[in-house]
Amino acid sequence: MASATKTSWSTFERRMQEIEDLGAALSLLSWDEQTYCSPRGREARAQHLATLSTLVHERVVDPWYGELVDGLAEDPDGLDEVQRAMVRNVKHDRDRAARLPAELVRALAVTGSRANRAWEEARRASDFSRFRPHLEDVLALKVEQADALGHDGERYDALLEAFEPGMRVAQLEPILNGLRDELVPFVRRILDRPAPDASFLAGPYPHDRQLELSMRVLRDFGFDFEAGRQDTSTHPFCGGPGPTDVRLTTRTYDSLEPGCLYSSMHEAGHGLYEQGLVALAPRSAVAHAPSLGVHESQSRFWENVVGRSRAFWEHYLPIARELFPGQLAGVGVDDMVRGVNKVAASPIRVDADEVTYNLHILLRFDLELGLLREELAVADLPEAWRESMERLVGYTPRNDAEGVLQDIHWSWGEFGYFPTYTLGNLYGAAVAEAMRAEVDLDACTAAGDFAPILAWLRTNIHRHGHVLSGEELMQRATGRPLGHEPFMRYLTSKFGALYGVS
Ligand code: ZN
Repeated sequence: MASATKTSWSTFERRMQEIEDLGAALSLLSWDEQTYCSPRGREARAQHLATLSTLVHERVVDPWYGELVDGLAEDPDGLDEVQRAMVRNVKHDRDRAARLPAELVRALAVTGSRANRAWEEARRASDFSRFRPHLEDVLALKVEQADALGHDGERYDALLEAFEPGMRVAQLEPILNGLRDELVPFVRRILDRPAPDASFLAGPYPHDRQLELSMRVLRDFGFDFEAGRQDTSTHPFCGGPGPTDVRLTTRTYDSLEPGCLYSSMHEAGHGLYEQGLVALAPRSAVAHAPSLGVHESQSRFWENVVGRSRAFWEHYLPIARELFPGQLAGVGVDDMVRGVNKVAASPIRVDADEVTYNLHILLRFDLELGLLREELAVADLPEAWRESMERLVGYTPRNDAEGVLQDIHWSWGEFGYFPTYTLGNLYGAAVAEAMRAEVDLDACTAAGDFAPILAWLRTNIHRHGHVLSGEELMQRATGRPLGHEPFMRYLTSKFGALYGVS
């Protein structure tokens, strides 16, 4: 490395690490806010978070740091592949942050929190008209933001870029349409069949024992409790300061499903990925997942492909029966598998099963696209929502609360986020298909031996961090480009057998 490059590299590295440290502190404070923070400490906590976020932003957009980053990006001779990726990732985020005027950033934060409060009230009253003016304000700012960030005529791309770098509507839309064309008739065929009896899942199941079961499963999956922990929160999430300290949360209901176990397995999928990032340079811009879709592929894989398989319950039903002898008396492996894979035309995305889930996402993607292309007005959302739900899911929402008001995301201005859930499902199925060529997924699961499964994920996905783009990483790991085919093959094989349809 030439000495000039050497000096600028070490200056760059110090600043990058400082920004990463601040990010880790932010993540820990926000974990605490949602788990153990005293009720009276919340307001002060919001202030701490805001101050730290401002410090991060100032350091990121600092002009001399920009010059340094641009210099290294233009003249990367002497940098290895991983260092180049660090520069690329920092430059990507920095350029985007620098394009946004401070006034717009402030307006987005203020309008978002006001809209969020209005959304809460509107949802409680099931009255979209109370949310509508606020959503109009948020959307106007998102349009402004997308235009400030820049795009080739498709505004949505500028927002999608925050969650799925490199992905474009032109590529995504045909894939989602292909999925829709196969999924809608498949769901109809399933719903024509008799629904399985899943009443035994309602319980009540003692909460402490549900937590005990989830801890057992997490340990078996290979989650390292020396490098993380699990607590409870209202909305389960995976956070924490970094790979050696991963914070999972879960929640308990009286029922087994929906309940603690599947929330835990989902978040553990994220957490196992985070712990696997320990292979990358710590405190660096490559020790992250390359995209939310890739991250979500790991949670969906453990929750659905592993956790909702027959093999899983062959191993865990006897264990669960010891914890819940009364609730599971007379329940066999087949009953359990049919129960946790029950398909229903239901209104709420977060409660949807694996088969209908993506239809809820396709609906949101179409509406978001319409709003940002200014082809759909906010005022027409409830009706457009109703029409799409009937067409795609075959369900008519009874009111705004179970229709257009159900998600928190739009109130915060999170447009472009929803597709990452479906990308997670598509990637997750492709991962499982590729893994099966080398690992006997079902035999390992039935034996409760998850080490070969985790090892495959570590080698092919986790240890690469954000050196490659999400798409390149998945292309290498799965040996195929992004598409809906592996996911449809997975669904038809599993649910075709469960419901006797093809
Ligand atoms: Zn997730």
